[in-house]
Amino acid sequence: MTKRGVLYTCPMDPDVIRDIPGKCPKCGMDLMPMGEAKKDRGHKMHHGKNAEQDFKQRFFITLPFVLTVMALSPNIQQWLGFRIVFSGEGLAVFLIGTFIYLYGGLPFFQAANGELSHKNPAMMTLVAFGITVAFGFSIATTFLFPGQSLYWEMSTLISVFLLGHWLEMRAVRGATGALAELVKLIPPSAHLMKNGTIVDVETEKLGIGDQVIVKPGEKIPIDGIVEDGESSVEESMITGESRPVAKKAGDAVVGGSLNQDGSLVLRVSKTGADTALAQIMKLIREAQNSKPKVQHAADRAASVLFYIAVAAGACSFVFWYFVSPQGAIFAATVAVAAVVVACPHALGLAIPTVTSITSTLGAKNGILIKDMKGLEIARKLDYVVFDKTGTLTRGAFGVTAIISNDESRVSNDDILKFAASVDALSEHSIGRGIVEEAKRRNIAVSSVKNFLSYPGKGATAAVDGKNVAVGNRRLLEELKIAINETGTPAEAQTSTPVYVAVDGAFAGVIFLADIVRNESKEAIRKLRAMGMKTAMLTGDTEDVADAVVRELGIDTVFARVLPEDKVNKIKELQSEGNIVAMVGDGVNDAPSLTQAHVGIAIGAGTDVAVESADIVLMKNNPLDVVKTVALSRKTNRKMMQNLAWATGYNVFAIPIAAGVLYPSLHVLLRPEWAALLMSASSVIVVMNALLLRRQKLG
Ligand code: ADP
Ligand code: MG
Repeated sequence: MTKRGVLYTCPMDPDVIRDIPGKCPKCGMDLMPMGEAKKDRGHKMHHGKNAEQDFKQRFFITLPFVLTVMALSPNIQQWLGFRIVFSGEGLAVFLIGTFIYLYGGLPFFQAANGELSHKNPAMMTLVAFGITVAFGFSIATTFLFPGQSLYWEMSTLISVFLLGHWLEMRAVRGATGALAELVKLIPPSAHLMKNGTIVDVETEKLGIGDQVIVKPGEKIPIDGIVEDGESSVEESMITGESRPVAKKAGDAVVGGSLNQDGSLVLRVSKTGADTALAQIMKLIREAQNSKPKVQHAADRAASVLFYIAVAAGACSFVFWYFVSPQGAIFAATVAVAAVVVACPHALGLAIPTVTSITSTLGAKNGILIKDMKGLEIARKLDYVVFDKTGTLTRGAFGVTAIISNDESRVSNDDILKFAASVDALSEHSIGRGIVEEAKRRNIAVSSVKNFLSYPGKGATAAVDGKNVAVGNRRLLEELKIAINETGTPAEAQTSTPVYVAVDGAFAGVIFLADIVRNESKEAIRKLRAMGMKTAMLTGDTEDVADAVVRELGIDTVFARVLPEDKVNKIKELQSEGNIVAMVGDGVNDAPSLTQAHVGIAIGAGTDVAVESADIVLMKNNPLDVVKTVALSRKTNRKMMQNLAWATGYNVFAIPIAAGVLYPSLHVLLRPEWAALLMSASSVIVVMNALLLRRQKLG
């Protein structure tokens, strides 16, 4: 929800809800505050899919009348070589024309009214203006001065507009709806275990702590922890990972994923807005609210085009009536055609249709775009900076060696016990590695007091009445504890040394090694092949960092970097004129994610990282960075194509409609052809955007 709590919606479609003002991704109209939009929409207004149905209905109902008007037109009769004359013919055409104008034109008048009441005349105002000019002129010829009317031109114009909007909304409906697809993932009911019996309840009614049964082949209704049973679960909708994941007691499962072969008993752990799926939907909503920069350019161009359209219409009329007189009918027809053809509809749709498909395509690949501006720049990246631990490596540390300081006489097991007791409270992956090793060796950890974390360095605490420090060289230096060099055993050459001190005296070193992710090497290779440089940022030692960098073929390395300095390294690269992306997972990466041109949080990392990022990768897979850049490039290409088409079309269409080719070639664009062309250009833009849906990334 916004700070001010105002929500915006489309005057045509209540399904479109945004928390900032902007254009409707479906019809390109300006969004307006919720309450006002409801008023504007009135009792008869178009609702979501119904708006589409409404256009369709009005099209088919008016069609026979339009055909009648056409049959009665002297012009058409002359072309087709027949003649119908009856008394009251003029009046009949007037009555039918009035019906077509009022019934067929109504949706456009309502929408135009919405635009005008927000002092933002646009597309719909032009349409309403065009048909009203044609209608007004025709009435005048019926009652005021004799002459040819524009009834059949007006009628076909309305017909084409109704058809165009119907087809276009149908296409756009296919292009949006990422959220609707996600909502469909949640099964409406769940099997609740209650007092030993199973009852089916609505999924919404589940509460935290409820016990739920999921049968084989069913969707998991809600986030929970497996209490009993074993199964494999396909989580691709949530993580983009297509391989099923094995689940047993103690594992977490998310609502919307598909349970495959086994039966599971779950304990509900999250409900409502806290569930993973609800969080993803929130991110997608945010993404749809965020506009790429080109959108602003497109919006500006569209509003300029509005005035160009009005000017083109007015100038055409003046020219063909006064300067090169061809009579009022000719001048009015040309003016209407010029206004109609210049409707900036395609321009309004050019960008939003692409971004909505982009966010859906991204989500399907496990890439959540929080800010379109970030994705927009990703195609131009010079440098991709990776955090090491947990990003390029698995963050699963194993102990490779323990060496004790001879002088301190603390045994290896005690070193491990002290370190594990402190690190049991740490969230750091090194800490987890130490605790795991203690468990493996059946060493019990003691409870601790005064735990203190030193981000990027280590931690201290009181264990069994002794002051214990666990961390890197920097931590011990800061605590003024001298380190006796113990040497590094062969098996720990590229391991991270973690120093342990007890009561101010250096006790020994635990060496831990991490495993580089299989996908990291390919990701680096591909990024370089795509023309980007890569860098690695770590708080770890040079030895460890160099080993990883050599293995992966990374260009630049920054080792022994304190969390607060990580952001400076990003700034450094930026000051050299590079466009920089940062990929990280940890709390200590958050400032760098914000600083970088594009912040990418990996593995849906820590909440802070997700909050600071522009793009969130659902899987722990560096290859998805490559996919993100590919998505950015494809998206940009589509946007440019659409913009080029939507503006380029006007460059040709407006002058032709205004009659530039008439004197020399006798080529004129009739209003209904102008309308057809205008609608076709919008449909082409939408279709072109839809092609993006088929694209494979990476
Ligand atoms: P990275 O940049 O690789 O994610 P950090 O900046 O989080 O790493 O940590 C840098 C170094 O600080 C680690 O390599 C480790 O030596 C030390 N360290 C940090 N936290 C702890 C901890 N809880 N226990 C032991 N050592 C730690
Ligand atoms: Mg990290």
